[in-house]
Amino acid sequence: MKCQAQVWRQGLSYNLRRVIRSFNQGPCSRRAVATLGTLCFCAQHVKLAKDGLIEADGQVAEPGQVADVRRYPKKFPDGLYRWAQGLEPIWSVP
Ligand SMILES: [Zn+2]
Repeated sequence: MKCQAQVWRQGLSYNLRRVIRSFNQGPCSRRAVATLGTLCFCAQHVKLAKDGLIEADGQVAEPGQVADVRRYPKKFPDGLYRWAQGLEPIWSVP
């Protein structure tokens, strides 16, 4: 079972005059090690979900939002999403 988080990957898009940095969303490529609610995550994404940085459907918060939460922990004591707050990860994946 693969981790079900949808992560942002840095990519480059080109137009005639300049190179634009962009982010593309795609599935995490790591193997899931735990179940949190209805989703399976790798260790890193379990931690991110508990930090409130993954939406209830598995989408990781946008890179800029993650940076804001990391920079201002007092402003975002529970991160951005609270669905994982009361959940304990189950460290085995069927
Ligand atoms: Zn993952």
